Amino acid sequence: MAGEPQTDCLFCRIVTGEIPATIVRESDTTVAFRDINPQAPTHVLVIPKAHYPDAAALAAAEPQIAADVLREAGLVAADEGIVGSGYRIILNTGTGAGQTVFHAHAHVMGGRGMQWPPG
Ligand code: AMP
Ligand code: ZN
Repeated sequence: MAGEPQTDCLFCRIVTGEIPATIVRESDTTVAFRDINPQAPTHVLVIPKAHYPDAAALAAAEPQIAADVLREAGLVAADEGIVGSGYRIILNTGTGAGQTVFHAHAHVMGGRGMQWPPG
């Protein structure tokens, strides 16, 4: 069924606690944890607890949870003190765009200068 946990999914296993992560926020529908390979002073991933392969699939099936992910991303930025300096919410979608984990996730990145366009 759509949204059900996948036993072979890294982020589903972080949701269950089977794989440890440095969790910084949690809501009824989301978990936020530090990226294991940070690319900025703040680099946190916000994921839905439900399994969807990418952000668009999540938004199509569960628009409220997609909104929860964005709300939590903003709250992570506030917690980290990076709202004033600016930050990015990044939704890599598809292998060609750099997606490597196929459980929807928003990168929250900030604490350093950012270039545009991204690489
Ligand atoms: P993406 O490339 O957009 O799919 O992002 C996946 C992100 O997950 C990468 O930035 C990885 O560094 C991160 N990542 C992979 N494994 C873990 C883990 N066990 N805990 C935290 N972050 C992870
Ligand atoms: Zn998953």
